[in-house]
Amino acid sequence: MLLQTLLGFLCSVGALATENTTAQQSAVPLLLVSFDGFRADYLQRFPMPNLKLLYSQGVLVEQLNNVFITKTFPNHYSLVTGLYAESHGILASTMYDPVSHKHFNLTSDKDPMWWNQAEPLWITALDSGYKTAAMMWPGSDVVIGNRTPTHFLPYNSTVTFQQRLESVINWMLGHEKEQGVMFAALYWEEPDRSGHIFGPDNATAMAKALKEVDDNIGLLMSELKRTGLWGNVNILITSDHGMAQCSADRLIRLDDCLKSDNYTLVDLSAVTALIPLQDPEVVFALLNKCHAHMTAYLKKSIPDRLHYRDNERIQPIILIADEGWTIVQRGDLPRLGDHGYDNSLPSMHPFLAAAGPSFRQGYQLKSLQSVDVYPLMCHLLSVPPRRNNGTLTQARCLLAAESCGDVAMVTALVVGVLFILSTITGLFWLLRSRRSMGPRAFQRLQVDYDDDDDPLLE
Ligand SMILES: [Zn+2]
Repeated sequence: MLLQTLLGFLCSVGALATENTTAQQSAVPLLLVSFDGFRADYLQRFPMPNLKLLYSQGVLVEQLNNVFITKTFPNHYSLVTGLYAESHGILASTMYDPVSHKHFNLTSDKDPMWWNQAEPLWITALDSGYKTAAMMWPGSDVVIGNRTPTHFLPYNSTVTFQQRLESVINWMLGHEKEQGVMFAALYWEEPDRSGHIFGPDNATAMAKALKEVDDNIGLLMSELKRTGLWGNVNILITSDHGMAQCSADRLIRLDDCLKSDNYTLVDLSAVTALIPLQDPEVVFALLNKCHAHMTAYLKKSIPDRLHYRDNERIQPIILIADEGWTIVQRGDLPRLGDHGYDNSLPSMHPFLAAAGPSFRQGYQLKSLQSVDVYPLMCHLLSVPPRRNNGTLTQARCLLAAESCGDVAMVTALVVGVLFILSTITGLFWLLRSRRSMGPRAFQRLQVDYDDDDDPLLE
């Protein structure tokens, strides 16, 4: 029976390998769309009929466990590289590099040195002979490793979603002289913008913002259908982070704890980064007892789970505010909604929805690591992935050609049979060893008996 089960398991694995090879040979174009700041529970709180229609025909991951810090640039780069922020080097939306002494911010982000610690999928896929496109995705207009995607447009907030979508669809379709792209990334800045202005708890304002997002998803679906791409391309819809409600009652003022000439401020947000100008231990001690809702870390003590330590662009001290708390130097609350907080908080998580010929239909997963999206996309495109922090193990369950549940069941069965067999074998040897000890004792008695009898015999 064990042999049969093992053979069955090996056959299943063999069949899966064959299916994988077939899937790779028939890769279809992939469209990755990000709606910035789409907190996972917006899906439960607001109707979103078009998005629900899309994933009812595909798959939904209810929560995407994103990377720390839960900011726009780090997370968008993680989605297309499969790397934690410490590994891809885009550690925040505002950075200082102590080696080059350069500064990075949202209006000065084109220098390739910031992006060259990793290679995004729109570059890697070029090596597979594909054409690629990136529409306003962070980093899409930067020359990375001396290359750019085949098509791109730099960020411009005046370009509407419809205009961005139109360009992306044209790039995917191609024309007589140029093949369509196999990978396209499309970025849209809502509902992040509304979330910052109104706060995620403002149901009226967020309902309006999310209705517009859902209308855009409806437009995306109808345009894909009109152009014949629907059903012939894979679509991933996701986001970079969630949003937490902030309040003027939850302010942490650094000036209350430390004179501003004691440090250089690099980034001021839910996660604040600073360079002490005095003995770091002295500055740290002051910040460490500054506020009950703020945790201070010396760089060397940042917890492993955050994957946010091993990069020279991480400053000597970082401060992490509790959910919904805002760190300022002085003054008032800058925004009603914010993100950047600990990535273990559900309010910081986005979602992932997908549809297309490679995906199962009507399937849902509770959660997935956001670094797993990159190996999933590489698999869908049959592009060899660069080194990354993700794995395909769980994401595989989303795919139509895979049968991860069956493999798990067969594996559990084999493990169970092996366990029972080893237990029986153990018991057998135990009994046998007891039996073998028995005769020895009997022999000794017999010897004694014989010894006793010998004189009589004589
Ligand atoms: Zn964002």
